[in-house]
Amino acid sequence: MTCPHCGASAPEGAIYCPVCGAVIAALPPAPARPAIPPEAESRAGGILARGIVSLVFCEIPILGIILAAIANGKASRFLRAWPGVGGRARVGAILSKVALIVSIAVTSLYGLIFLLGFLGIYGDPHSKTVPETTGAGVALSAAIRAVLSGSV
Ligand SMILES: [Zn+2]
Repeated sequence: MTCPHCGASAPEGAIYCPVCGAVIAALPPAPARPAIPPEAESRAGGILARGIVSLVFCEIPILGIILAAIANGKASRFLRAWPGVGGRARVGAILSKVALIVSIAVTSLYGLIFLLGFLGIYGDPHSKTVPETTGAGVALSAAIRAVLSGSV
C-alpha cells in the first residue's frame, strides 16, 4: 500500500507510514452501543400491543386486571433485559401500568356495587326481584358517576 501523504510504500496492514508517520490505515471503528437484536425489536412491538389491548379492556372487571398485570409483568421484564431500548416498549409499559390502576379501580367499584346489592342495602333482598336489585346497583353507579363529575 502507498502512503497518501508522502507516496512512500508501506507494508500491507501498517497503521502508520514508516517514512512520514502519517496514519494510513483506517482506525478500528469506535465501539458502537450494544445493538438491540431484531427479536428484541419485534418483542418491543408486542409489549406496545399488549399495553394497548390491556388499556382497551381495562374497564372489564377482573379480566382487565389479569390482562394489565400480564402486560405489565412482560413490559417490566423486557425493560430489565434491555435497559437501553426506548420508544415502543416504554410506551407499552406506561399504558399497561395505567390500565392496571384503572382496572383495579373498576373491579373494586363493581365489587362494591354487587356487594351492596347482595347485602340488600336497598331493602329486604328477599322481597326484591333481581331486576330491582340490579336497578339499585345501576342507580348507585350513576350516583357515584355524578359525584365524580362534580355535578352534585
Ligand atoms: Zn508517508
